[in-house]
Amino acid sequence: MPHSERTPVHTGGCQCGAVRFALYAPPENVHLCHCRMCQKAVGGPFVALAPVRRADFAWTRGTPATFASSSLARRDFCRDCGTPLSFYYTDSEHVCPTIGSFDRPQEVAPVRLFGIESRMPWVDGASALPGEATEAVMPEARKKSIVNYQHPDHETAGWSPHRPAQG
Ligand SMILES: [Zn+2]
Ligand SMILES: [Zn+2]
Repeated sequence: MPHSERTPVHTGGCQCGAVRFALYAPPENVHLCHCRMCQKAVGGPFVALAPVRRADFAWTRGTPATFASSSLARRDFCRDCGTPLSFYYTDSEHVCPTIGSFDRPQEVAPVRLFGIESRMPWVDGASALPGEATEAVMPEARKKSIVNYQHPDHETAGWSPHRPAQG
């Protein structure tokens, strides 16, 4: 069945909205990878990935750029805003979109860890650190003046990604 006739189980995309994707089946073996390559690829302590069969995945807006992080691995990202969008092995039936780029990432919980040899020694304690909501640390005047250019967490028609003026 063509993707256009299927109902997505999940949708997502990059921060600027130039690239969007859909999953037509629930992801399996959702995991966090702490390996050094994934740390670099997302600029963070680990990546969160939601494997799905390629046949159940489609880019629905735009085309991502691709970096070959090894002879076997590819990593897709938005060439405009840099959002890491997926990881896959070239010889695998699966593609692994990044959970943070999903529209409803809270519904995609990991069941396994990979790459634990490179896990940051401070990761386990991080959730116990003192915390504040974003709202709490931004002054009222600044909150009023801010303009959000991030694509919303749902499908949009006729979305134009914001581009800063050159100069
Ligand atoms: Zn983008
Ligand atoms: Zn990894």
